[in-house]
Amino acid sequence: MTRCFGSELDLFALSRYINYSIVEIIEVLFVTPFAHHMPTRLIFGPGSIERLSDEVARIRHRCLIVTGRRSARLSGLLEKVQDALLSAQIESVLFDQVEPNPTLSTITDGAKLAQEKQIKWILGIGGGSALDAAKAIALTAANGSDIKEFVCGARPARPPLPLVVVPTTSGTGSEVTPYSVVTDPAECDKFGISNPHLFPRVAILDPELTTSMPEKVSVDTGLDALSHAVEALLSSLRSPFSDMYATEAIELVFKSLPSVREDGSFIPGRSSMQLAACLAGMAITDARTLVPHALSYPITVFYDIPHGRACCLLLPAFLERLSDLDDEFVQARVTKIGGLLGNKDDAPDALRSFMESVGVAPRLGAYGVQDSEIERFAKQSTGKGHLDISPGEWSMEDLLDLYRRSL
Ligand code: NAP
Ligand code: FE
Repeated sequence: MTRCFGSELDLFALSRYINYSIVEIIEVLFVTPFAHHMPTRLIFGPGSIERLSDEVARIRHRCLIVTGRRSARLSGLLEKVQDALLSAQIESVLFDQVEPNPTLSTITDGAKLAQEKQIKWILGIGGGSALDAAKAIALTAANGSDIKEFVCGARPARPPLPLVVVPTTSGTGSEVTPYSVVTDPAECDKFGISNPHLFPRVAILDPELTTSMPEKVSVDTGLDALSHAVEALLSSLRSPFSDMYATEAIELVFKSLPSVREDGSFIPGRSSMQLAACLAGMAITDARTLVPHALSYPITVFYDIPHGRACCLLLPAFLERLSDLDDEFVQARVTKIGGLLGNKDDAPDALRSFMESVGVAPRLGAYGVQDSEIERFAKQSTGKGHLDISPGEWSMEDLLDLYRRSL
């Protein structure tokens, strides 16, 4: 019997009556205190890029467009955006040198340009790499400092330049997170910068802009959204909001990723994936990301495996390890994740089957990852914050075991 709000409650009877597990009822009755903050204005829907000039018309100042090297120009989006700025009488400067997994030196180059041209705000267009670069450039340029200082945890004296973003992939959710992930090739690692001022002011989410993604980019980025949602459900920082967003995101990816893989021009599927990525981004805004993200970083930098795919390849073994924990709540969450992916009795298998169904070999070995390298990767991941908010204990041996189970 549990005393709740002054009356005695039989949880066992209640669980039978409303068909929820006891763990689920406890979750509802005893909500852990949380804070939730997501200040980005979202403009969502096919054709919403047409609203860009209205959204930025009030800003007036000179802007830096930050984008990747090819895709925005090839799809015609860059020209469209430049025209929209012209029609709003806004002068713009272009920085189109962002590579996938943007490096420290790219951020430094972009920030130098922003300072030279006395830029007052930044417009990021492209995938998560372009958006994250836009955020890091905005922070570095506003502070006149070296991006390395922020990567090492220094607190910026000034907030970043204001940001407006237009994502063209459906994966990272960077449009609604206070994070920017930058790559240091010398360290063979990626580092997240987190700052509450890094939320973009406005994000235009136009699913039509994602139709130009080739099948592989659609799948790899979609698997990032899935990883965010799965990790958010297991994080010790989760909130009722992140739970809700993550649950919906998993359902959307499960239903829609196969459909956009089959037909990249299928707008309802593209809309669902754009929404899934955004919801999963909001989920990690509260819950952050866990061990699979931390371990994916060296795998991406060393083996050039795209971010979303690398994270997802580590998820089944992560779930396997969690299934071995003596923790009823974690067990219930793993079962829930399996259920959302079509097999509540075996979540790791459900994930691997889903990856295979979208054409992804679900083991690291298929990408040339060698047992001889992973010890170094496990060692460099030991001090990361992702470990502290993941269920269970994560020693160097545990990390190594997760890598080995994923080979
Ligand atoms: P991405 O690296 O931005 O893009 C991958 C490739 O897709 C690039 O070659 C890009 O070309 C191309 N591309 C992008 N949009 C396209 C389109 N509509 N049509 C055709 N090609 C397109 O991939 P991403 O997965 O979106 O971003 C990954 C980065 O985000 C990683 O660095 C990851 O660590 C980070 N991330 C950030 C957060 C966060 O909260 N901030 C969360 C998770 C991950 P171009 O380069 O030519 O544009
Ligand atoms: Fe991610």
